[in-house]
Amino acid sequence: MDFRLLEDMLRERGEPAFRARQVWEWTARGTAGYAEMTNLPRALREELDTAVPFSTLAVETEREARDGTVKTLFRTADGHPVEAVLMRYRDGRRSLCLSSQSGCPLTCTFCATGAMAFGRNLTASEILDQALHFRRLTRVDHAVFMGMGEPMLNLDEVLGAARRLPDLGITHRRTTISTVGWLPGLKRFVDEVDEPIRLALSLHAPDDELRSRIMPVNERYPIEDVVAECRRHAETTRRRVFVEYVMLAGVNDAPEQGRALASVLGRDHFKVNLIPYNPWAASAGGGAAGARPNTPPSATGGLYEGSSRDRIGAFRHELERARVPVTVRLTRGRDIEAACGQLAAAPRVRRQSASVSQPAPARPRVAGAPRTRT
Ligand code: SAH
Repeated sequence: MDFRLLEDMLRERGEPAFRARQVWEWTARGTAGYAEMTNLPRALREELDTAVPFSTLAVETEREARDGTVKTLFRTADGHPVEAVLMRYRDGRRSLCLSSQSGCPLTCTFCATGAMAFGRNLTASEILDQALHFRRLTRVDHAVFMGMGEPMLNLDEVLGAARRLPDLGITHRRTTISTVGWLPGLKRFVDEVDEPIRLALSLHAPDDELRSRIMPVNERYPIEDVVAECRRHAETTRRRVFVEYVMLAGVNDAPEQGRALASVLGRDHFKVNLIPYNPWAASAGGGAAGARPNTPPSATGGLYEGSSRDRIGAFRHELERARVPVTVRLTRGRDIEAACGQLAAAPRVRRQSASVSQPAPARPRVAGAPRTRT
């Protein structure tokens, strides 16, 4: 729901100031539409229906994985694709993965979103409407800004949305904003955000040479500066910053790289989350037909292979030996391309193709991308 539009409309109509709040309370609780907002005058409800679309996003396709993960492809009113994911865990957690931009201007070589065209920043309302969509399906209690886009390039809108999430049932402590370490936004986040929203850093390499190869943004904001800023956050908030580290076979998963990572991070300020790499080859004939989680990416045209379990285990052991807290992320929704880093909508999916989502376009990778394995 476009809040600015809502507030303008209510003001023009001469409604009392509390009306916007009433509408929001109903909406945040998962109400399906204005008709159900029974403490609003009927005539107002009808007018709202035509003047303020209940969502800024239209659902284009929705798929549910065997593990209960739901991935939804939305369109903004001006036609940009946006994906978001609901993850249901066995312990009862219901976690949302939200997008901050349509596409992403950064070109991390292992990320599907990085390979698609950048559209634009999303508004706070468009970010919140992703969450509200799932709130209408189920209760929700966690959110991560780990969908499409770089939140620190769109910080005001991301915060605008994050600040309303508690009304949906998602507290700030259960909200995580993830960044590549885009310093201008990150500095502002550290300086200005008082709420206990959690911070995650996508690091993926222990040294600048490798990180720049797989994440071109590192040329601009090198590891030392980014880690220092995150450490400042950990020190001022006394909360650890999560470090995301996607495990790429033969690229960043050697035990000595684990030791190097431990010495970059130290014991006190970070918690490492090792992420099994999720293949997403655009040329796989993917989409609905591409449900083949165990196919090696070499067979589907991808750049990387995920590290084996043993390799992840050995890497983890190096961090544990150095007393750096570490976990391995559970993978959800692989069979519907809803897993980490797989969000990339095809630019020309037709609106009526309700049950088929199409593969992302094949496109040449950025210059200087690593070949595959070393
Ligand atoms: N731009 C922000 C938000 C996106 S988060 C950021 O990079 O932090 C998406 C997370 O998933 C990042 O940690 C990203 O590195 C990771 N990721 C991207 N592609 C992936 C893939 N194919 N498999 C596993 N994780 C991936």
